[in-house]
Amino acid sequence: MNDVKDTSIWDVVVIGTGFAGMFMIYKLTQLGLKVLALEEATGVGGTWYWNRYPGARCDVESMEYSFSFSQELEQEWEWKDRYSTQSDILKYADHVADRFNLRRYIRFNSRVESANYDQTHRIWVLTTTSGDVYRGRYCVMATGTLSSINIPEFEGLDSYQGEWYTTGRWPHTKVDFTGKRVAIIGTGSSAIQSIPVIAKEAEHLTVFQRTPNYSVPAHNRPLETNEIDTVKRNYSSIREKARESQSGISYLKIGTQNAFDVSDNERDDQYQNRWEYGGTGITTAYMDIGTDENANNTAAEFVRRKIRGIVSDPVVAELLSPKNTIGCKRICVDTDYFETYNRENVSLIDVNETPIIRLVPHGLQTTDKTFNFDCIIFAIGFDAMTGALLAIDIRGKSGISLREKWEDGPMTYLGLSTEGFPNMFTITGPGSPSVLSNMITSIEQHVNWIANCITYIGSLGKEEIEATKEAEIDWTNQVEEIAQGTLRYTCNSWYVGANVPGKKRIFMPYAGGLSKYNEECKKVASAGYTGFSII
Ligand code: NAP
Repeated sequence: MNDVKDTSIWDVVVIGTGFAGMFMIYKLTQLGLKVLALEEATGVGGTWYWNRYPGARCDVESMEYSFSFSQELEQEWEWKDRYSTQSDILKYADHVADRFNLRRYIRFNSRVESANYDQTHRIWVLTTTSGDVYRGRYCVMATGTLSSINIPEFEGLDSYQGEWYTTGRWPHTKVDFTGKRVAIIGTGSSAIQSIPVIAKEAEHLTVFQRTPNYSVPAHNRPLETNEIDTVKRNYSSIREKARESQSGISYLKIGTQNAFDVSDNERDDQYQNRWEYGGTGITTAYMDIGTDENANNTAAEFVRRKIRGIVSDPVVAELLSPKNTIGCKRICVDTDYFETYNRENVSLIDVNETPIIRLVPHGLQTTDKTFNFDCIIFAIGFDAMTGALLAIDIRGKSGISLREKWEDGPMTYLGLSTEGFPNMFTITGPGSPSVLSNMITSIEQHVNWIANCITYIGSLGKEEIEATKEAEIDWTNQVEEIAQGTLRYTCNSWYVGANVPGKKRIFMPYAGGLSKYNEECKKVASAGYTGFSII
């Protein structure tokens, strides 16, 4: 039975059915609310539905990159690998949708084009690209943070006669690279995961790099039965620890000393242990790696030394060695990334030295030469955090447009709400820890907060909640101030929108850590939603 045939006014319309949207549906329907979810794709999973490129995996360990809201779900689901593949995560998303009977609330193939607040009736009116109109008292944007892909805008793309793909919108059927000359543009997380896999299949792979990235080995492996059992036995304390941590991850060891509190040898041993353990732990080995350039350089230089040790051609090793501070852009986690450059069928082009001028019918042309390619892959990232929201024409009170309001950067209160747009919530929106945390831990915290808030408004017999201008300005300033105290603030990363031409440079996520953020949210709620006007 599909409940979404009802054409009346929904209590809540949720946009997007990745992990955020799915848990929001679950939570609200448990409260007895009438919920509709609109989803552009043909299935659930969000980012994990679209990002099917070869080698796609999560870099948060599987047992923690999962929902904690249901103990039954936690106990019955079996993760295979330490870091799950995209296909295993999508299987999990499908399982969650089926197990909690969520699909009946979802209308797939429904891309929301506009969302208008009807101030008179206090109703959100949502229109899809196919012209369907839905109305809801509340609107929850579960549209994702890394979901709006950067469209390749290379001159001559129309003339290119080979195959081309973007990592963030990968075909659902296998792409066969056997015997093909393949190009990949970009060296962020998506490229770093796919390059080693594609290189094994392609006749030749040419990587076009603009900025080298720090990457650390995942040391991925199948999970052993006893470690799965141990986690399952201790899940409640593990989850508690994750929620009370900075990152939403319990296993991440955070150093309690500064980098120069210890000798050079001791520090190197520490980095070496973390390198051997695998994952992103190098950047949290010492307290000041994220704030002090000299401390940061000890970790950065350790990784650069590793790159020089792995890559046999010193010129290529130097090109692959990042010059910026480590962790400033999102650190990558890989399997044999640097090793792949020792293969004879892989070459690296620095586009700073020889920029790409245009695509041509059989490949692409740089300032240096014309390359022939059977296939070009664009791994050029996302319009992060605000892209998916602003892709929708959202208009609040008096027709105010969110695109116009955020022209100089996103302004939110708690990353959950924005003034002028009552009864609209964003999950993992700008101004929240979001991409700086384990997304699922953050999603659960947000969804619980939004559900409690909606319940509270209902219990008061009120109809509308809206962030106040003062609270929003104060919060946005806090987000900025906290970020300014970190080295992350200094890089041209997608955290500051620097990867999208014309995007205003603003540090978008809240860098104060999940536990502190959670406290702030709790404080606001327990004081009767301070900083919001309720009518
Ligand atoms: P990304 O990190 O933004 O990387 C995009 C890459 O494309 C960068 O190397 C960028 O260079 C390059 N690029 C962009 N435009 C270009 C152009 N015109 N010419 C040449 N190079 C160009 O995007 P992503 O790799 O898709 O990853 C985005 C985020 O998604 C990650 O940081 C991570 O948070 C998440 N992610 C996570 C996983 C995981 O869990 N393992 C996997 C994939 C993605 P510049 O650096 O110079 O801009």
